[in-house]
Amino acid sequence: MAHATFTSEGQNMESFRLLSGHKIPAVGLGTWRSGSQATHAVVTALVEGGYRHIDTAWEYGDQREVGQGIKRAMHTGLERRDLFVTSKLCTELSPERVRPALQNTLKELQLEYLDLYLIHWPFRLREGASKPPKAGDVLDFDMEGVWREMENLAKDNLVRNIGVCNFTVTKLNKLLEFAELIPSVCQMEMHPGWRNDTMLEFCKKNEIHVTAYSPLGSQEGGRDLIHDQTVDRIAKKLNKTPGQVLVKWGLQRGTSVIPKSLNPERIKENIKVFDWVIPEKDFQALNSITDQKRVMDGEDIFVNKTEGPFRSVADLWDHED
Ligand code: NDP
Repeated sequence: MAHATFTSEGQNMESFRLLSGHKIPAVGLGTWRSGSQATHAVVTALVEGGYRHIDTAWEYGDQREVGQGIKRAMHTGLERRDLFVTSKLCTELSPERVRPALQNTLKELQLEYLDLYLIHWPFRLREGASKPPKAGDVLDFDMEGVWREMENLAKDNLVRNIGVCNFTVTKLNKLLEFAELIPSVCQMEMHPGWRNDTMLEFCKKNEIHVTAYSPLGSQEGGRDLIHDQTVDRIAKKLNKTPGQVLVKWGLQRGTSVIPKSLNPERIKENIKVFDWVIPEKDFQALNSITDQKRVMDGEDIFVNKTEGPFRSVADLWDHED
């Protein structure tokens, strides 16, 4: 893996400028596994926490609840143009599914447009596929056809920006060969336990903004970075919480960050990251945490060890590190 030395750029930026010219707020609320509590979390984030960026996806099954939260927040005076709403295209990835899927998402969210629409995973699953997939559940993915339809949504102003998640450098290179609209955002798992420097550097070189997902290591079934010794030591030294240190680390690398919480105090805590910095020495200590490993490796959704087409996690990630 390349050893990039990201320093404190973007340290106090509350938003990042995208290639499209739009701004993406630096900290957003993640909503995966939020279920019926998503409404309350979104209202807390927008009205009490000062968040302006909400991340959801069709796959999370919570778009209705997120939409209700946005609506309630707008009743308190927030305007749609002040908000940045991200959602993601389902895994039944085929060109003809793109527009109906977006229309579904807009309906569930009760919105006229999205600020950002992402391809959630670069793999196509048959409708009703099982977990892990059976033979024939993972189908060919027409990347160019799907991207053209994404571009058409942007041209029709139904989405302000388009982008991808969970791509590899190999897949992004392929997409860049035919893209008329370069992805504004690449949303990837990134935290000190999976820094993925290679992808971050590639995106920076191509002016593609990166949003870091699972910035706290995802906790439940993931990696408990909140109790990591290095994170804890730095948090105590700076008189911040481990959650704040992890969010700030992502911002200092130039990525936007979307921590999820259902707890009102933690929601508010996670965005109090703009009037201080992680000193360079501590920032580099976070860049030196060993045991680099993905939490969201996609194995249970896309790998079929005997039938393929992806027989291992390494296959999914194009054997990149
Ligand atoms: P996070 O890394 O954000 O961690 C969330 C967990 O941390 C929850 O258990 C939460 O519990 C806990 N937590 C939150 N704040 C704190 C804090 N300050 N101190 C201690 N614990 C805390 O996990 P996610 O995997 O949810 O990632 C964030 C978001 O990224 C998702 O919700 C989703 O929107 C997006 N995402 C995108 C993916 C993609 O494929 N594009 C894949 C995965 C995630 P509690 O709620 O009790 O506070």
